[in-house]
Amino acid sequence: MNRDFKYDLVIIGGGISACVFASKYLKNNTSKKIALIEIGRGLGGRSSTRISKRFNGWKLNHGAPNFNISNSKNNLLLKSYIDELLENKFIKIDDSDIFFLNQDLNSETKNKSEFTSGSNYLSIDSMSQLSQNIVDSNNFKGKINFYFETLIVDLKFNNKEWLLTSKNGDKFKSKYLICSTNLLLHKRSLKILNINRIPLREAIPINFDKKIDLILYLLEGQSFIPRLTFLIYTNENYSYKDFYSKKQRYFYLSKNLEKKYKFERIIFQLQDDNKLGIVVHTKSIEFINSYKNSKNEKVFKQKIITNFNKLFENNSVVNKLTFDAEVSIMKWRASQPSGIAVPLSLQFSRKYRIGFCGDWFEGEGFGRIEGSILSALILEKKINDLIK
Ligand SMILES: Cc1cc2nc3c(=O)[nH]c(=O)nc-3n(C[C@H](O)[C@H](O)[C@H](O)COP(=O)(O)OP(=O)(O)OC[C@H]3O[C@@H](n4cnc5c(N)ncnc54)[C@H](O)[C@@H]3O)c2cc1C
Repeated sequence: MNRDFKYDLVIIGGGISACVFASKYLKNNTSKKIALIEIGRGLGGRSSTRISKRFNGWKLNHGAPNFNISNSKNNLLLKSYIDELLENKFIKIDDSDIFFLNQDLNSETKNKSEFTSGSNYLSIDSMSQLSQNIVDSNNFKGKINFYFETLIVDLKFNNKEWLLTSKNGDKFKSKYLICSTNLLLHKRSLKILNINRIPLREAIPINFDKKIDLILYLLEGQSFIPRLTFLIYTNENYSYKDFYSKKQRYFYLSKNLEKKYKFERIIFQLQDDNKLGIVVHTKSIEFINSYKNSKNEKVFKQKIITNFNKLFENNSVVNKLTFDAEVSIMKWRASQPSGIAVPLSLQFSRKYRIGFCGDWFEGEGFGRIEGSILSALILEKKINDLIK
């Protein structure tokens, strides 16, 4: 049976931007009834964690492993929020080892990645738990209802009210709508949701709102970087060559190495039982295609271990893997936006009672958690200032 729900405000998406928005909104609007709708089984989105049943509760951050704030000095809103997360002990400064491997496989200390500039932070628990902690921090009275495994496929706006329909036919009515994802605004929705028109365009026809028209126009120029992440469950006795007890350790590959070994970044993640998990990222289209076309997944996984062993053959801290290490593969069709970013000035349409946040907005944090957090903070402030 299909269900009908009614809220003051509904948020689509349960990634970090949605959680930051929800937490701030709950703090400032204690009497409002709000809902968060997410297609996944939990919070975190692209900064989430795979918790294994088979490997005794191993937690591997398979999207963003940590985050960096490239410039919080000039942004008090962001700076004070990061301080809040630090004070609440949801995050800590990430002082893990970062190695930048150059062409000769030597390590350099020079900062060469968009993921490491500025200050780096690590979730005290897992990355999924960070999103959960953020929402919980201001949800004293259980003011927010969560709908997981719920995919919104249709949007309508009639009589100053939003009507959202999920794939399984549930209906959500709401006075305000927040989209923390741009899936329902972007042409990729046509294929993913198997529909004929972009849902937001269907809800708000062309020439009815300049801001909406401009967002939809700009998003035509936004594409997404596909990535694969390989989650390696190492064997019983696998350890570093040296003694290192911090939670994570990062290896970034130079462009030349990336071309040769197909890996972009390797993150060692210490588990509660002191075993070492490893997450390897690739955005090599050639490698992604060879995975898509591979007829035998086992052979492909062995290639990952072979490449890993070649890369670290003479490394002073990393041991080789054995071929019986378990590898699981995560496909990210849209790991990060690229191309055109949307200006923050288009974030909220008062006329249509709709707001947007996420890493797809313009600024230094474009495509990263920094942008997701900042856009959520700015949107919440705008809504609070405008709708009182
Ligand atoms: C492999 C990988 C590595 C990365 N590394 C880094 C890094 O090192 N540092 C960094 O800062 N950033 C990194 N990023 C980017 C970072 O993860 C994102 O910028 C950030 O997590 C985006 O958060 P968000 O809340 O804006 O979006 P998302 O996390 O994408 O949240 C949107 C949510 O909406 C849900 N959703 C979408 N459409 C619907 C619908 N119709 N109905 C219901 N739910 C829906 C999605 O399932 C998703 O959970 C990485 C990303 C990936 C994938």
